[in-house]
Amino acid sequence: MPKPSTRVKILAYMCAKCFRTDADKLAWFFSSTSVFSDCLLCKQCFKQSFNQLPQTEKEEWSFYEKK
Ligand SMILES: [Zn+2]
Repeated sequence: MPKPSTRVKILAYMCAKCFRTDADKLAWFFSSTSVFSDCLLCKQCFKQSFNQLPQTEKEEWSFYEKK
């Protein structure tokens, strides 16, 4: 079993994708395939980027439920 890696931190800065500063939450996004790896993203951008990840990477996120 691979160890789930949780590095999601809630911080209050600017979203690296849409440059929103009024997002209530930003999360640290990382991926070996995404251009937004190591960026802070707002909820919407995070979701978008997350959905573009390959299945194997999604499963590394602890909140992702395998279907
Ligand atoms: Zn955003």
